[in-house]
Amino acid sequence: MLVIESVPKGLYIDGAWRETPGALPVFDPATGKPLCQVADAAPADGLDALAAATAAQAGWARTPARTRSEILLRAQQLLLADAERLGTIMTLEMGKPLAEARGEVAYAAEFLRWFAEAAVRLDGGYLPAPTGGSRFLVTRQPVGVSLLITPWNFPMAMGARKIGPALAAGCTCVVKPAEQTPLSMLALAAVLHEAGVPPGVVNVVTTADPGALMTPLILDRRSRKLSFTGSTAVGKQLLELCARTVMRTSMELGGNAPFLVFEDADLDAAVDGAIAAKLRNTGQACTAANRILVQRGVADEFARRLTERMAALPMGPGTEPGVVLGPLIDADAVAKVSELVADARRRGAAVRLGGEPLAGPGNFYPATVLTDVPDDAALCHTEIFGPVAPLAVFDTEDEAVARANDTPYGLVAYVYTENLRRGLRVCEALETGMVGLNQGVVSNPAAPFGGVKESGLGREGGFIGIDEFLETKYIGVAL
Ligand code: NAP
Repeated sequence: MLVIESVPKGLYIDGAWRETPGALPVFDPATGKPLCQVADAAPADGLDALAAATAAQAGWARTPARTRSEILLRAQQLLLADAERLGTIMTLEMGKPLAEARGEVAYAAEFLRWFAEAAVRLDGGYLPAPTGGSRFLVTRQPVGVSLLITPWNFPMAMGARKIGPALAAGCTCVVKPAEQTPLSMLALAAVLHEAGVPPGVVNVVTTADPGALMTPLILDRRSRKLSFTGSTAVGKQLLELCARTVMRTSMELGGNAPFLVFEDADLDAAVDGAIAAKLRNTGQACTAANRILVQRGVADEFARRLTERMAALPMGPGTEPGVVLGPLIDADAVAKVSELVADARRRGAAVRLGGEPLAGPGNFYPATVLTDVPDDAALCHTEIFGPVAPLAVFDTEDEAVARANDTPYGLVAYVYTENLRRGLRVCEALETGMVGLNQGVVSNPAAPFGGVKESGLGREGGFIGIDEFLETKYIGVAL
């Protein structure tokens, strides 16, 4: 396949592509068949990448912000110009429908533009000491060599959301993409190279053994920052490692988003929002609506409209025109979703749509609507990561908020109501880093993305996104 052949398959270290003796297979989730193989880094390759990033750090930090910014802007333009090819690569390795993959390329490009603009707008300070006698100079410096680890579900955007601010702040980096979707990151590395990112500033290592590759890098004192997006379980393990050197971390972890529909909601808007919040990326998003709680008076009508809409969504390989629901990432994901649905049924949930995995080839699970889902069903406490909408009924606002907050996660929540006072009251009471008030998608490079509780630490995007890669230095000046 020409489009797959166009992606370099080696490790990208110090501005050059490196072959490895071992190889990592990449599969098409729509067929289950192998697409190609990429390099499989050994721990020594990882240390070479860290050495390259370390050697490049001082020069990149000294490079004028305007120059760094212009390189990022060139990369943004190259991504947009190549969105068709890059989107196709993403669809083939990850499964998302082509329209969503093209959208993700544009989303990734926008992170580069947003942070290119931030690079030249860093602030500082000059203050008299309140006690007199000295002045405070406050400036901001790059944190240093950064390790960036990304998941498979948004294989390019999660990388751009870290590489953009790291490079804008003056940090060099070693990037490790998920083993199921290395091609999107390798393609992004090739674009950054073409845009003029100097050797060693961005290094990309792919591996079948992430712990063996990354643990020595995390424990190495040349690394100054870990920015991780992935599951809460792996995030906790990495936080323990980072504690040993008190390494700065940003953690974008799992979610369990509640989606609340009040009786005074615009029901059509709520159904549109639920489709967006539930089915983007075929339900495989940290922001996916995981529990849909609907007030009693509109619960039946909402279930009817949502079921009708979900039943009409075409499912198939993401490369086919018109497909809205693609395959899940692998067979294990299908087995996990099937088990969660079976558990909910055993506990009394009713199946309104779907409910059984589809026969292969490919990893397909159909759009599924469950009603009367009890709070003790496993899918109310686990990220479903599939196109399954579990509906439950609530009576009062206090009850809705209490049930929404009854989770260790706190990434995002969605609230549908036409009553502004109620909307703001509920948004403030929800224990999440983000809320969609009458909207089903919150992701935006210009907004601060991130969670509270076990959904993570720090924010990506927005005005504060670059802070994750900066240290504040205070210089006391005697007068
Ligand atoms: P994952 O299993 O935690 O993996 C994430 C990344 O960590 C992958 O690159 C993985 O490599 C790597 N990794 C695994 N074990 C490691 C170790 N011991 N040392 C270093 N790296 C290690 O998560 P996933 O299944 O790819 O992604 C889905 C999860 O990401 C979901 O929980 C989702 O909610 C979360 N997510 C969060 C956000 C957010 O912004 N909050 C955004 C997107 C996704 P391998 O691929 O080789 O295992």
